[in-house]
Amino acid sequence: MSEYVKQEHINYEAIMDAYGGSYGQEWFFFFKCPACNEIYLYDKEIDIVFLNPIDLNTPHICQGPFSCTICGASSKNVLAAEVTLDEVKSSKWSWAIKAAV
Ligand SMILES: [Zn+2]
Repeated sequence: MSEYVKQEHINYEAIMDAYGGSYGQEWFFFFKCPACNEIYLYDKEIDIVFLNPIDLNTPHICQGPFSCTICGASSKNVLAAEVTLDEVKSSKWSWAIKAAV
């Protein structure tokens, strides 16, 4: 089984470029919907979920349980829904993983 995504795998620079700059203390984490496996990018520092891998300017402020935009399932603890490197690499978020890993 593939390992889980770790901080060192995440290409912060690429994400900041896509977002249009840094906004402070980013702490990114990938998680997936427990029902349909859709993958999302979460920033723990400011508690927002980036819903769209091709447009980071459509974030979702995540106060309380997160609801999947695809299937509507909610996830009380997104930090528990870890995803593996292979899952992210085969998703639309593959660009946000460093090329070397
Ligand atoms: Zn879902």
